[in-house]
Amino acid sequence: MKIVIIGGVAGGASAAARARRLCERAEIVLVERGPEVSFANCGLPYYIGGEIQSRDKLIVTTPERLRTRFKLDVRTLSSVEAIDRKHKKVRIKELESGRTYDESYEKLILAPGAAPMRPDIPGIDLPNIFTLRNLQDVDRIKRQANSGIKHAVVLGGGFIGLEMVENFVKLGLQTTLIERNGQVLGPLDQEMTQPIMQTLLAHGVKVELKQNLSSIEPIDNGLLLRFESGLTIQAEMLIVGIGVKPETKLAVDSGLKIGTRGGIWVDDSMQTSDPDIYAVGDAVEVKDYVFGYDVIVPLAGPANRQGRIAAENAFGGTSHYRGTQGTAVVGVLGKTAAMTGASEKLLKRNKMPYRKVYIHPAHHAGYYPGSESMTLKMMFDPQSGLILGAQGVGGAGVDKRIDVLAVAIQAGMSVYDLEEMELCYAPQYGSAKDPINMLGFVASGLMRGEHPQFDVEVMLAQDAATSPYVIDVRTAEEFSLGHLPGAVNLPVDELRSRLSELPRNRTIAAYCQVGQRGYLATRILRQSGFETSNVGGGFKTYQMHHP
Ligand code: FAD
Repeated sequence: MKIVIIGGVAGGASAAARARRLCERAEIVLVERGPEVSFANCGLPYYIGGEIQSRDKLIVTTPERLRTRFKLDVRTLSSVEAIDRKHKKVRIKELESGRTYDESYEKLILAPGAAPMRPDIPGIDLPNIFTLRNLQDVDRIKRQANSGIKHAVVLGGGFIGLEMVENFVKLGLQTTLIERNGQVLGPLDQEMTQPIMQTLLAHGVKVELKQNLSSIEPIDNGLLLRFESGLTIQAEMLIVGIGVKPETKLAVDSGLKIGTRGGIWVDDSMQTSDPDIYAVGDAVEVKDYVFGYDVIVPLAGPANRQGRIAAENAFGGTSHYRGTQGTAVVGVLGKTAAMTGASEKLLKRNKMPYRKVYIHPAHHAGYYPGSESMTLKMMFDPQSGLILGAQGVGGAGVDKRIDVLAVAIQAGMSVYDLEEMELCYAPQYGSAKDPINMLGFVASGLMRGEHPQFDVEVMLAQDAATSPYVIDVRTAEEFSLGHLPGAVNLPVDELRSRLSELPRNRTIAAYCQVGQRGYLATRILRQSGFETSNVGGGFKTYQMHHP
């Protein structure tokens, strides 16, 4: 068997290593346009900021090592220019010499990745405007960032944009983040990005939302960025991180099927429309795990897994890709944001029924030093309780909880399963009732009807005739620092003795800071004959919706 693999980083290198492990006799040719294979794309921003000090650390493995350990025929600085499907060969150009030659294949795996997008505006090709994909980009960015400049601008508040902001701040650069939409981190629901916004502002980052860049002009000390709104910003360097576009040219030119979203079409065995060609990674379209429709999700985990699957199937295996959940995490100046599965906004857009809960637990037992808080949000099916998606933001432990929920989604678990999950616990690591169990308790209580809840933004949108009587069950002091519009203060510890103050002909909404005292108040009132619901996630959730 002779396999040719195009692209030697995440998906391609995984496919090559797996192919070798499966077959010692196969001829495996790995063709990579750049000078390096298998480098750590995800580590690039941290080398710019100095967290990763040695450039060599970014090179996960070298072509020599792949040759000796995996007996791979690695050809770097070699670009595949065309695929001749009829004769099963590819045309390779050696970038240093300019020589071109043909290489035959029995099975071909495409792992060409995705290219950073650049807005088509005047001035976009001026010096000191950068995108970030590989080590050569990093060298250029690092040189400019360390050249004595004071101010950097990042265009795009996605994962890579925010990582660049963090690292510019660490370098001591005055940093401005520009985002076209009304929020950073587009895949998350807006209220869940508020703690990240606050962190950015607290670190002196200037954030400009809803700004569309229209042109860039050269000025004496750098660049003048002009926006459609009339805003202008001067910058000494600009990082463009507005997303990536699948590299599909080879696939298009050779007549392979392209999917509805513009990525290379593959089935769940990662096979393209040609049975001898597989494709993986950022270049392909896959099924969304929750919604089942086609998506392009450029993440390292899926690319690596797909590479393995393609290699297995190239040898006649029957491996299947289950779809992509979009499980992702980002660290921003000490805060973590993570998500898995469906967001609330996508559930709404797809008109899929759901319920949601918020909790604001501590990462580990509050009495043990260093406890950090987080917010978790979970969406689930209102009939079955099946978990559809989750998001987390905060300090330590967000990643761990979203990972557990990612597994729960893939395992087809419901909110009732979360109540029963047995997770490791000692005070420095978690709580005897882990935040995951808490999510299960709150959501299951909602499903069973014993803990009915209002979504705060739905409740506040009701007109006067239907809106509930709102009581704030926190202390008078907490109430004085801020409360929901129209709320009456009735601390939970006084509730049993002051029931006569409450109306019997009106629904009551009880709330506290994070939902726990509101839950107790709801139980007291319901057992005293009052129609009562807790305001999910309490005042803290309200503040996330109304920063
Ligand atoms: P790539 O890893 O991009 O590899 C494709 C390779 O193919 C390239 O090296 C390219 O030179 C080569 N190639 C293309 N066309 C040809 C051709 N015609 N001939 C020869 N070679 C060709 N994901 C996460 O999950 N978590 C993170 O924290 C994260 N951080 C990231 C940070 C940065 C700065 C970047 C750029 C990406 C990050 N990603 C992250 C995304 C992740 O790196 C990608 O999803 C993953 O690398 C995709 O793998 P791939 O094999 O499809 O493409």
